[in-house]
Amino acid sequence: MIIDASQRAILRALWFNGQLSRSELHDLTGMTPNAVGNEISQLQRLGLVKELEPKPSTGGRPQIPLILDPSSRRILGISIEPGQVEIAELGLNGELTLAPISKAVQQESRLLPAATRLAKAYCARRTFMAAASITGLIDHATGSILLSSSAPHQSHLNTSVLLKGLDDVPLIIANDLHAAAGRWAVTHRSQIQQDTLLIAFDDGRMGAVMVINGRPNHGCIMGANELGHTRFPVNTPLCFCGQTGCMERIFSSAFLGPAITSAEFSRRVETADVHDNKFTEMLNLLVMAFSNTVNFVRPSRLVLASRFMAGEAFADRLTGGIRAALLPHFSERVTIDAWNIKVSGSAESAAWFGLATLLFDSWEAYSPPSATAQQTPVT
Ligand SMILES: [Zn+2]
Repeated sequence: MIIDASQRAILRALWFNGQLSRSELHDLTGMTPNAVGNEISQLQRLGLVKELEPKPSTGGRPQIPLILDPSSRRILGISIEPGQVEIAELGLNGELTLAPISKAVQQESRLLPAATRLAKAYCARRTFMAAASITGLIDHATGSILLSSSAPHQSHLNTSVLLKGLDDVPLIIANDLHAAAGRWAVTHRSQIQQDTLLIAFDDGRMGAVMVINGRPNHGCIMGANELGHTRFPVNTPLCFCGQTGCMERIFSSAFLGPAITSAEFSRRVETADVHDNKFTEMLNLLVMAFSNTVNFVRPSRLVLASRFMAGEAFADRLTGGIRAALLPHFSERVTIDAWNIKVSGSAESAAWFGLATLLFDSWEAYSPPSATAQQTPVT
């Protein structure tokens, strides 16, 4: 990885506490004063940490506050989803320094080259690392994409083209759900220690990730990304996985009717009319799939991540339905959160995932061997 565990501990302390002096970092991390000093020098050299003006002395040596450097380095986020690639850039303080720029790509074989071109155009000296998210399953050992709705007809897409396009900038690749979970972990400090099941869904997209002791659970079959391919005996268009009745085909425009546009789908989901029978059938199946997963996984916290959670009527019917279908003793103790966020195809979430890998141990999904090249110091 680009930085080591001690450096991550310092960055994490600064992220969650704001300004800290070297001696406060020594107290918080348990590292020796000497080790803190050495790591800080290295992090300053990389442009990740900077010193502020010394505080007035109250006797003894003046304390110099340190912060995450908000201006010198950036994280480039890249997202690849069916029909579209997107990039965005984030500062180390979580500020969006480049609003998402997206490009439509019709041909699936052109997705990776298009993402590479777009990323290359915005990759600069300030880019500390790049983080890419993609729908589907990633082989973390080789960096190839095994199965993705972004490119259903291509098996074993290799991401090395993306890496080559970025020269020596380290690249992390994550499933889009893991990217969302990384974003959630970085922005929800008080809840990070809770075992959390994050379910994300949008029109025709669905997945889940477990975050256990602040770490995403890789390669899990139940309650993980396969949630979208949980099947019910109902008629749906064919899923890219080759089956029908998959949950992500149920929660989609086509399920409500062959001519339903995504705008019409959004309106009907947001309205959540109890007299809308087809919508109610869809909602009931959604409730069943989600409550089954929650009963099985039994997390402390369930996070429902979707732009649709902004709709009060929909959020109420969904969470109420899930609670009613949970095991009674368990229903009393699980916390259900609504997180209104665009999950799939968000380059911003990909960049947040990059930031999560700088703050938390074991968040990196895949970093190719050549991505461990020494960083150029900022002068
Ligand atoms: Zn499927």
